[in-house]
Amino acid sequence: RLSKIGWIGLGAMGRPMALNLFTKTYLAHQRGERAGHGRETPTFLVCEEDNSRTESFLYDLREKGGAELAGRVERVASGREMALRASRILTMLPSTPQVETVYLDPKGGILAGLLELPPETPSVDTKSLFRTPSTPAADIEEISSSTTISPPPAPPNTTPPLDSSTTMSPTSTTTRPTLSDTSPHTLLIDQTTLDPTIARGIASHIHSATALRALMHDAPVSGGTGAAERGELTIMLGSPSPYAKEMATELLSRMARIGGVIDCGENGAGVGVKVCNNLILAINQIALSEGLALGRSLGLDPEILHNVINSSSGQSWSSRVNSPLQEIPDSPGSRHYSGGFQTRLMLKDAGLALSAAAVCDLPIPMTWAAKSVYDAVCNEGEGEMATQDFSVVFEWLKKKQLE
Ligand code: NAD
Repeated sequence: RLSKIGWIGLGAMGRPMALNLFTKTYLAHQRGERAGHGRETPTFLVCEEDNSRTESFLYDLREKGGAELAGRVERVASGREMALRASRILTMLPSTPQVETVYLDPKGGILAGLLELPPETPSVDTKSLFRTPSTPAADIEEISSSTTISPPPAPPNTTPPLDSSTTMSPTSTTTRPTLSDTSPHTLLIDQTTLDPTIARGIASHIHSATALRALMHDAPVSGGTGAAERGELTIMLGSPSPYAKEMATELLSRMARIGGVIDCGENGAGVGVKVCNNLILAINQIALSEGLALGRSLGLDPEILHNVINSSSGQSWSSRVNSPLQEIPDSPGSRHYSGGFQTRLMLKDAGLALSAAAVCDLPIPMTWAAKSVYDAVCNEGEGEMATQDFSVVFEWLKKKQLE
């Protein structure tokens, strides 16, 4: 039962994602119509089982974060309070330090709240743990009665040290739940792009500290603010258990394109896939910009060059969708690099890839080079390029040519 849902981090991405999660537009999405929160009045119909309105909560450091939801979604004061109020918590924060604070801060963090929950009163109906899209209602009684469900153990009084090697319950592919699948009180889904090793460590720490009464997921997204508004994101999911994964997918499909929630494996795998993808994107966008800048210097027709690249081996998402050329309709270049994926975020993601590679002793020289280029772009002039779409690297190259 999708009873109490909380959202933390209502910025450029989190705000439209939360709107799609909390509102009825998801139903339009399921009918195959174009979703988008602006197209329907939000009605906060989340629980489709009995048509009841779901209790929803939000938290953001900025008071204005999630202003459209005010009055219909209750604002709470910390991650800790969120954990005491909501049984499904989603977070969309800038990066690693903010995720560590929101989940692990000893006073205000989600874990602090989880450890205060009384063990004898689960906030989630245990039967609901089996109520997945692939489990018909009629089977629920049978599964429940054939499975011994013990109350979850009390949380430990002390928080164990952060340990990424903590053993998780084995991921099962059977249709019947194992006991460990029945134990969580709270479903946690972090959608931030952060350091994959730290994401895995935080999940492991929370699982261990709560004795699996909370199940953590990493579910970063690809698609940008436009896809977030339309409910057409691609979401890369890392999860500790098959049943938790199905519950998480049920929520996440409200923000994703149809079939867009991709099972990447266990904790850390979702954000690992995201970081690898963005490493490639970071390099591709610079490669495209260098090719286009050289073409311009050689006096080539930009539209011919664009068309040839996109029907040849140099093509990529960057060349097809994210061209810096102002001559190409709907490209970032044609809208002066406003909106899109900010250069400062790409700089952050290149740094995440480098940290992840350092842990594995893997040399990734192109990513080093790409990071130093985005660093320079972000520090150019007054820093205005830092908040423009990262394809603005093309303008930076042109500027360097003139200097
Ligand atoms: P943002 O900076 O616009 O939003 C972050 C929100 O989190 C802000 O509202 C901020 O006030 C809030 N916040 C920060 N610290 C907090 C804390 N300690 N407690 C509570 N709230 C806090 O960032 P964004 O553009 O929404 O990006 C979020 C994540 O999504 C990033 O990891 C980013 O890399 C990723 N992402 C962004 C895009 C994009 O196009 N913007 C696309 C894909 C993925």
